[in-house]
Amino acid sequence: MDIKRIPSTPIIKLSEKLNDNSFYIKRDDLLPISFGGNKARKAILFFEDLIQKKCNYVVTYGARSSNHCRIIANISASLRIPCCIITPDEHNKPTYNYKLTKLFGAMIRNCSVAEVSITIEETIERLKADGYRPYFIQGGGHGDIGTQAYVKAYEEIREYESGSNVYFDYIFHTSGTGTTQAGLICGQLIHNDQKEIIGISNARKNPHGRQIVLESVNSYIVKRGMRPIAGERINFIDDYVIDGYGSYNKQIMKTIKEVLLLDGVPMDRIYTGKAYWGMREYIKTNRIKGKAILFIHTGGVPLFFDGLEELINGE
Ligand SMILES: *Cc1c(COP(=O)(O)O)cnc(C)c1O
Repeated sequence: MDIKRIPSTPIIKLSEKLNDNSFYIKRDDLLPISFGGNKARKAILFFEDLIQKKCNYVVTYGARSSNHCRIIANISASLRIPCCIITPDEHNKPTYNYKLTKLFGAMIRNCSVAEVSITIEETIERLKADGYRPYFIQGGGHGDIGTQAYVKAYEEIREYESGSNVYFDYIFHTSGTGTTQAGLICGQLIHNDQKEIIGISNARKNPHGRQIVLESVNSYIVKRGMRPIAGERINFIDDYVIDGYGSYNKQIMKTIKEVLLLDGVPMDRIYTGKAYWGMREYIKTNRIKGKAILFIHTGGVPLFFDGLEELINGE
């Protein structure tokens, strides 16, 4: 696997016409590594760093539905670097991401949610004692390196704008750990652009959710000699979280089916489908009309298949 030169992902127009806005989608789900997605975009930079630091063991963590764990396990396998995934016990059915993570030969360590940090520490200590140079990646690829990945994505968006003469008024996307949003905001600050970047939270509530994005933005820009920004500049929207991580409703399932039938774009219940539904609601509530809107498809294609039966059986 050559992780060095990955191409820009396509931006295409959608059929969606809500409130006379025009809608486009950036297909980060089509990044050409392990079913794509924002975790692939971030992982590429983490592995470059790992190679530079001459590390030889990867340690990370995530839930069973984690796109991050699947991608880290796949790239590790491809580079023949052993990989340990720490994952909290769950009683639900194994997801495709979990099955794929196993297929890629990752060493999976199960523990209770409360034991995650101690298990990470123990694992790293034991590897060091065994003579390895472990490389730890935060869950979801959080941190300045993950932020950098979305500064790059922001630059791809600018290139598209100058090539097509379509300038986006809004960028919407799913916000989880906030790294994707932080990278987009940093890109905007670096170029001094006037866009609204709206992160639709899939789990976290405010003020915590916004605060984490703010810390990520400021950590990144201060290192580049820019002044820190204030939290009011961050649109971290927690109105569409429902009951937290993994929860969804009938409208989300309906939205997923509509976008798939109209434009052939698969979205999932936990991340992209939820945020796309949230985007529509946000546009209605805030009476946004006649604007150019970009939705970033942050990936999670295996999760689409976890929801397929329900999509077929729902009304
Ligand atoms: C992890 C994930 C997100 C959230 O990204 P953050 O950078 O953590 O905010 C959004 N969409 C998908 C498909 C993801 O896997």
